[in-house]
Parts: sequence; structure tokens; C-alpha cells
Amino acid sequence: MGIRIWPRSHCRRCGVVLGEALAPGPCGSCLRRPPPFQWNEALFRYDGPVREAILQWKLGGHPAAIHWLLDAAGGHIREVLGPKDLLLPIPMPLARMRRMGQHHAADLARWLARRGGCGWDWRILRRLGSQPRQSELSGRERRRNLRGAFDLDWRAWDALHQKPARIWLVDDIQTTGATMREAARIAAGLGLPLGVLSLARA
Ligand SMILES: [Zn+2]
Repeated sequence: MGIRIWPRSHCRRCGVVLGEALAPGPCGSCLRRPPPFQWNEALFRYDGPVREAILQWKLGGHPAAIHWLLDAAGGHIREVLGPKDLLLPIPMPLARMRRMGQHHAADLARWLARRGGCGWDWRILRRLGSQPRQSELSGRERRRNLRGAFDLDWRAWDALHQKPARIWLVDDIQTTGATMREAARIAAGLGLPLGVLSLARA
């Protein structure tokens, strides 16, 4: 299996793959129940060599293949991001971040911001408490587990020299999207157009 990009023919609002005739949506699900963000973009599908590259980075500490993927996706990144955008990485629970000694979404946001020519900030969107890993929970448990998981650091926001035109929440992998939605619900409090951007989507 080779590297697979996320199809360009998708619902602009939630990112779900659509036939060319229906893209860019909104899809039926977004019409019935719009998500708390305006755009959902993913660069790659989470499988094959992309999944390998992410595991090498997150578990092995070797991000070389991720940089290669981001360079390959450079054109797409520059299409999605504008110079007045601000990227906010979605933080992990603090306990897990300490254990791993890394904030992967923040690294990713920095790398994307460099390629997209925009800003990023790791302080504005905060994670509270120490929820269990999402991957160990069922769909309904995931949503309940995330309630109250995020908040905004208004001091960090007020300290920004220039307020952005749009906000993008950044995460490495999007699976059910439950984390993205909950983080977006909180980030919507900033009152700006809001998108979510993942390196890979399952
Ligand atoms: Zn949709």
C-alpha cells in the first residue's frame, strides 16, 4: 500500500469524502447537524506508510518521515492556510504529555505554520484534568470523557500582538472526530471563523 492523500473531493465542512458531483457539500449530515467548525481538512489517510511514519515519530522519536510528508503536502498546506491564520494545537491530557515528554500536536502546528506562512500558539487552548486515553473508550464514553476537557487561556489570547483572521485547530490523527469537536466547541468562544486540520484521518 502506498501513501494515500485525503481525497480533495470532500465535504468542506466536515471533511467526509464525497463524490465529485456532491463536493464541496455541505453533506446531508452537516445540513442536519452542523459541526462546531466551518472547515475540516486532512492531509493524508491514516494507513500504510503514513501510519508507519506517525508511529516512528510519536513512539520512536524520529520525525524525518513526517517532514518528508509535510514537504510533499506543501502545496495543499499553502492552499488551506493563509498568512493571517493562527494554528492552535490540540493538547493531550497533561499527565500523558509529561510521561511522553512531548507535545506532538504542538510540534506539528509549528511545522505546519512554517510551511503555511502563518502563526501558531500552544498556550491559548488548554487541556484540563487527566482523562483516560480516548482510544480505550467507546464512542459514547469518548464524548462524556471529553466534557470539560478544554478551556481557553485568555491572558495568552490578550497577549497576542495581532489577532488572527481565522483559527485552525491542529491534531496529528483524526479518528472519530470527538476530540476535534469538543476542542472546537471551546475554541468557538474566540469568536473567529474556525477550522480543524489533521495530518492524517482514519
Ligand atoms: Zn459534511
